[in-house]
Amino acid sequence: MNVVSISEAKLPAEPFVARHLIDGDWRQSADGSTFDRVSPSHGSVVTKAAKGGARDVDAAVSAARLAFDKGRWSRTSGKERATLLLKIADLIDRERERIAYWETLESGKPISQAMAEIEGASDIWRFAASLARTMHGESYNSLGSDMLGLVLKEPVGVVSIITPWNFPFLIASQKLPFALAAGCTAVIKPSEMTPATTVILGELCIEAGIPAGVVNIVLGYGDPVGTAMTADKRVDMVTFTGSTGVGKAIVKAAAGTLKKVSLELGGKNPQVIFPDADLESAVDAVVFGVYFNAGECCNSGSRIIVHEDIAEAFLKATVDLSRKVPFGDPLDPSTKVGAIITPDHQSKIDKYVRDAADAGATVHLGGEALTVPGLAGQFYQPTIVADVKSDMPIAREEVFGPVLSVLTFKTLDEAIDLVNDADYGLSAGVWSENVHTCLEFARRAHAGTVWTNTWMDGFAELPFGGVKESGQGRELGKYGLDEFLEAKTVTMRIGKTRAPWVA
Ligand code: NDP
Repeated sequence: MNVVSISEAKLPAEPFVARHLIDGDWRQSADGSTFDRVSPSHGSVVTKAAKGGARDVDAAVSAARLAFDKGRWSRTSGKERATLLLKIADLIDRERERIAYWETLESGKPISQAMAEIEGASDIWRFAASLARTMHGESYNSLGSDMLGLVLKEPVGVVSIITPWNFPFLIASQKLPFALAAGCTAVIKPSEMTPATTVILGELCIEAGIPAGVVNIVLGYGDPVGTAMTADKRVDMVTFTGSTGVGKAIVKAAAGTLKKVSLELGGKNPQVIFPDADLESAVDAVVFGVYFNAGECCNSGSRIIVHEDIAEAFLKATVDLSRKVPFGDPLDPSTKVGAIITPDHQSKIDKYVRDAADAGATVHLGGEALTVPGLAGQFYQPTIVADVKSDMPIAREEVFGPVLSVLTFKTLDEAIDLVNDADYGLSAGVWSENVHTCLEFARRAHAGTVWTNTWMDGFAELPFGGVKESGQGRELGKYGLDEFLEAKTVTMRIGKTRAPWVA
């Protein structure tokens, strides 16, 4: 295995100090409590954060509500909003190294990957700026010569944004700029494991000139912060990315006030490899798809369904290539796979592998913790498990680790049945040189995204989201803006043509 262990990595002299952003002010918690984040790779405290409670959420929601109702943001022009979003994009570019550094320390992801994510995030802010200027409603000039119908697009209102630990800055950037482009105000809660870069994003919003109360941040735990942000009747919408279990809890909590809910949840994403596939290319994409972000990724391509004629060659090539992937210190620029988010999560990953082996699957590579010399954090070996059956938890549930499960098929129909035999429906992939095979697959797979002869390419222009238990609603693209808009119908009579109801 290719283990990267470095000595020149620079740990911070002082931890990052993270506070809530409420009504334009940086605040400690109302009760003064704080929590520490320990770096998953280096084992030392890297962040000291305010630990929010109900009173902090109340203050943040009040500020967001007031800012919205006073029209501090919603009544600005698309041009004004776009100008500020573009300014934030420029500031993100300016701060790219700083953001990537703290993202790496808190999440354990490799610094090179964090740099690429921050670059992707500023691109999304620019794309959202273009939507702020071009969004529009509809007009109906076809209702009769004395009638005119307008459909106005209006911001939903106050939005609670709840984000997970695996892509803290990127996921915040898949939500906040679209909410702002629409004219909404927001309260954001990052995962308690990764608060720092959302705080930096808040600083950049303030520096760019976003009015007080438009962007608020409350740090802390899902309960009580996330739950209060979901139940509060002054909040009009919740947008959440995270586990399906918490997504379901949010739907229930939001039902009390019938607020709009948008969910980007888990995935157990299949890639089907046909015998005519470009095997070298498929193997590289499979290796990327499963080890990217240490597999802690809703889009992890962790469920491979390979034709039985090429299964042996595929397995051998995948094991060989997996051995070359540099796992290790996230601060080393050559590292491609970093640490696992927490010791508990590492145990959960390990249990999936052990249970699969006990149930008859074969571990071809890895299946153990990985020791990285000099680092106190937790790492997991690149792991490949074959002879997996569709009913095993490792084939059906999010392992959220660098673990590949391999199943086999004989016919296209059988492959599609395996693909769709899942509670999730986030993304799916097909590898074949035959365009008819790819198109048939794309149309029959139950998934929000289908990749053909590629994996995990993403663009700000293209919507992203899932079907079934992978979520509801879409992020990115013009659909990403629509989530934060309501349609208002304006029906106008031209002239005094209305016939009296009472004669
Ligand atoms: P969660 O879904 O528990 O957390 C995501 C966010 O929701 C965090 O900010 C969390 O707060 C918050 N939250 C937790 N409970 C509630 C609640 N009742 N109401 C409102 N907000 C809440 O993910 P975890 O971080 O615990 O990860 C657990 C598993 O979820 C992973 O192993 C993985 O399988 C999956 N996951 C999937 C993701 C995806 O992108 N699809 C992303 C992350 C995880 P906090 O954690 O700070 O307490």
